[in-house]
Amino acid sequence: MTINRQWLINANPRGRALTIEDFKYHEETLQALTSDEVRVKTTTLGFDPSQKGQMENVSGYASGNNVGDLMVGRGIGEVIESSHPRFPVGSIVTGPLGWQEYASVKPRLLELIEDEDIAPSAYLGPLGSTGLTAYFGLLRVGQPEPGDEVVISGAAGGVGSITGQIANLVGCHTTGIAGGSKKCDWLVNNVGFNHAIDYKSEHVKSRLRELVPSGINIFFDNVGGDILNDALACIAPHARVVVCGGISRYEQATLPQGPANYFNIVFRQARMEGFLLTAYSAEFAEARRRLKTWIANGDITYKEDVQEGFENIPKTLLRLFSGANFGKQILNL
Ligand code: NAP
Repeated sequence: MTINRQWLINANPRGRALTIEDFKYHEETLQALTSDEVRVKTTTLGFDPSQKGQMENVSGYASGNNVGDLMVGRGIGEVIESSHPRFPVGSIVTGPLGWQEYASVKPRLLELIEDEDIAPSAYLGPLGSTGLTAYFGLLRVGQPEPGDEVVISGAAGGVGSITGQIANLVGCHTTGIAGGSKKCDWLVNNVGFNHAIDYKSEHVKSRLRELVPSGINIFFDNVGGDILNDALACIAPHARVVVCGGISRYEQATLPQGPANYFNIVFRQARMEGFLLTAYSAEFAEARRRLKTWIANGDITYKEDVQEGFENIPKTLLRLFSGANFGKQILNL
């Protein structure tokens, strides 16, 4: 008899900060596997800010999650029981494993990881939704041209740091906005951003005016709020404002007024556009192929923030909202 340890949703955290009490520990006895399932032992989980949005269970962003349900989450694991020819025992897979030690999953939801030269955890970061969001958000929505001034908020995070590197690869000039000197130094010295602004200790609007005097051609926003407003004040004619995320609002009780500087979109004949990664699923394979080549060539580097231990899973999601994570947040069980 094998016990499967799990974390369930204990509350829907709408209009407030996420807390540890929003999760409940649970144990179940593993049932016999059905013929259309593969059993996976989870080794690593990835964490995304959208998981809080999913837990809020408000329709429109992602499918709902009820109190008492297993907490959703993508992970990496090893197949330990299977009669499916594509996923023999011992193979390494990624998919929606959830916050649990053993997942019994339909094969169509799993992807086999076969690369020998890249760590499986990359499928939770640069080769997973993180890298793909950066790729499609920048290249498709932002439509960069060589020489463009690209400014990225949340720049030291999973999505932001990959976005900056793709922008550099297509010939743009990059400025990242992040919290703290450690993250800003890393962006300039290790990731290849041309400039970084520490929004916690610097005046963002005046620094943008100094660093990007010709105006921002693409603002790739992961944060919203005051940072979005400051960037809107500094856009160039025909700028593209890519709304990828708005983490500054994810835990607020009252949603903020719209950005006061939005009318610059009119004066600068600019475009502001949001997107969801799911719209590009038909093209994931080609994007992954390019991302893999860039990583193999050393053109894209990535940083992982690795936490440890099943018991620390809920705490690890909370790290994203305090900025405690430095790089793509993952956890090894
Ligand atoms: P991440 O950037 O690795 O982690 C979140 C970071 O956000 C934190 O490290 C922190 O960095 C920053 N942050 C947290 N609260 C903040 C606040 N109040 N003000 C300013 N910054 C704050 O997370 P990620 O997975 O790469 O996701 C980045 C964004 O992409 C999120 O907004 C997410 O929702 C969005 N996203 C969108 C799509 C899509 O399809 N549109 C898909 C995936 C992700 P600092 O220390 O620098 O403050």
